[in-house]
Amino acid sequence: MSLATQYCWLMLAPEFSNLVRKSQRTTRYLAGLRGRNEGVTICAPLHSLNSYTIRATEELLYYAQRQGLMTQATTIDGKAMAAELSAEISAATAKLVANGKAKPGLAVVIIGEDPASQVYVRNKKRTAEACGFNSVQHTLAENVSQEEVLSLIDDLNTDPAIHGILVQLPIPAHLDELTVTQSIVPEKDVDGFHFQNIGMLTSGNTDGAFVPCTPAGCMLMIEDQLGKDLSGLNAVIIGRSNIVGKPIASLLLKANATVTICHSRTGDLPQVARNADILVAAVGRPQMVKGDWIKPGAVVIDVGINRIEVEVDGEKKMRLVGDVDFAEAVNVAGAITPVPGGVGPMTIVMLMSNTLQSALRA
Ligand code: NDP
Repeated sequence: MSLATQYCWLMLAPEFSNLVRKSQRTTRYLAGLRGRNEGVTICAPLHSLNSYTIRATEELLYYAQRQGLMTQATTIDGKAMAAELSAEISAATAKLVANGKAKPGLAVVIIGEDPASQVYVRNKKRTAEACGFNSVQHTLAENVSQEEVLSLIDDLNTDPAIHGILVQLPIPAHLDELTVTQSIVPEKDVDGFHFQNIGMLTSGNTDGAFVPCTPAGCMLMIEDQLGKDLSGLNAVIIGRSNIVGKPIASLLLKANATVTICHSRTGDLPQVARNADILVAAVGRPQMVKGDWIKPGAVVIDVGINRIEVEVDGEKKMRLVGDVDFAEAVNVAGAITPVPGGVGPMTIVMLMSNTLQSALRA
């Protein structure tokens, strides 16, 4: 097929679900191309819709990208999705209470004065209260002993009014993070960091387990774009942390994606990333992922939260950016999460969802 051909049609065949899914993203670009009376189309009889056709479709997208004909990616509105979920959780909570059960109780333990942690904890408390939860905050001094922290967690573990416990990370260096997180009973470990919950997730048994909040939120956004079954799609995750990269990999694998996990020792990262139909960036490096790392039409989930200094009207200001260079990526991707307003709000609402689940099980 010549890429210079003008005007054709992309034929969608519902029975070829894999192609249709790819095509749904492709047609967005084709619509943009046709609008300008320019473009390349794939004509294929239904029986010949195969991997060649898919490859040709991808070639078309690269062509469109090079010609500057791409339409912009859909921005995945995490804030709106989170607000919708939050309303559902509030309604479920009201029903629970109307049936004579206790409100979901969420206890947040914050140690020290880290300003970013204080913002996160404040947001969690506000959302918990908006959902109608019993929200309890324990603020401990920076120099608190490990015994005191473990004793508090022990009390919360046995408190029937508390269904979810989380210790805001990071904690001061003199405390052992693993001992602290593992001291929360798995049934109240709404962050999903207990080995029992991690084991259930990695073995594919998510029923009854608590899935870590950020990965759970990312999956909802991916499902919203691509559906629940990701068969035939390549997912690339940049970052292998226990709280983001690894659990997202388990969830994507469970959804039948073909998963690659990258990290600081991965060779030729841009090339690996370009293979991704789903690209998840969880690195902590501002705007590291450039537009030419992204496969045209890919779904890009930007987990990173980085503060950078920018100059506005000659004044230096702090700005939040992700791990993806949004301004470049939005011209290539099919859909992308913004920072802020993408993964962040979904993370908080998934914490509420886990706490509600815990209350329903109690
Ligand atoms: P970690 O620091 O624990 O992990 C970072 C990962 O990125 C590591 O696996 C590291 O590799 C990898 N990495 C670092 N530099 C590079 C590089 N140059 N090339 C390739 N890989 C690299 O971070 P987290 O997973 O905890 O968080 C990642 C980001 O997500 C942060 O910005 C954090 O603030 C944000 N975050 C956002 C949340 C939200 O709700 N939106 C929630 C949680 C985190 P290696 O293992 O080899 O060192």
